[in-house]
Amino acid sequence: MRKLPRVLIVEDESPIAELIAVNLRHNGFAPVWAEDGESAQRELDAVLPDVILLDWMLPGSSGLQLARRWRADARTKGVPILMLTARGDEPDKVAGLDAGADDYITKPFSTQELLARIRAVLRRRAPEQVDDSVTVGALVLDAATHRVSWQGQLLKIGPTEFRLLHYLMKHAERVHSRAQLLDKIWGDHVYIEERTVDVHVKRLREALGEAASLIETVRGAGYRLTGQALVKPAPAQS
Ligand code: CA
Repeated sequence: MRKLPRVLIVEDESPIAELIAVNLRHNGFAPVWAEDGESAQRELDAVLPDVILLDWMLPGSSGLQLARRWRADARTKGVPILMLTARGDEPDKVAGLDAGADDYITKPFSTQELLARIRAVLRRRAPEQVDDSVTVGALVLDAATHRVSWQGQLLKIGPTEFRLLHYLMKHAERVHSRAQLLDKIWGDHVYIEERTVDVHVKRLREALGEAASLIETVRGAGYRLTGQALVKPAPAQS
């Protein structure tokens, strides 16, 4: 039997958590509920979920703090985090993405919207497993081992940034608009704003360090990954 995707719901309000859990169960997911960061951590230590639904406002550690902690932890850093925020908390959303959330969903949300988002993050994870590696200059991305290195040094990179980099490297030298990147990286995802792309490009550049110059902002058009800046005349043969 196919293993049901496990969804860890971190939410202190039990009516909301129960509603989400019931809906997930009816739609082929295996929900697990944790009412705060501490019990969520215990769940994560026991079994890694396929997705984490993380409420922003929690007693004790906030969703933001938890997202940061789990992104920094080697064991949990690859698990997609969908943040639950209150309506209108615009700065929260950006802060959430900055902290390492892959996406956010605004309360109140419909079951259909939630399911679509969860399926989207799960689908987005799947193509990563394709066994191939891409090289641009000294930048090497290995999709099989999920590693990125620059001049032989491993770089620390989040899951969304990894997908973004993978796509940009596979289609190097081409300019991609924000809308195209949303479509390719975030999939059939109509809810995300184009600004999200900028947030992740910023984080990708930070992760790349000195290789950040490979990613160019093309004014009025979008982004491009180029190896051109790296091309130096070959040393003369002696
Ligand atoms: Ca709450």
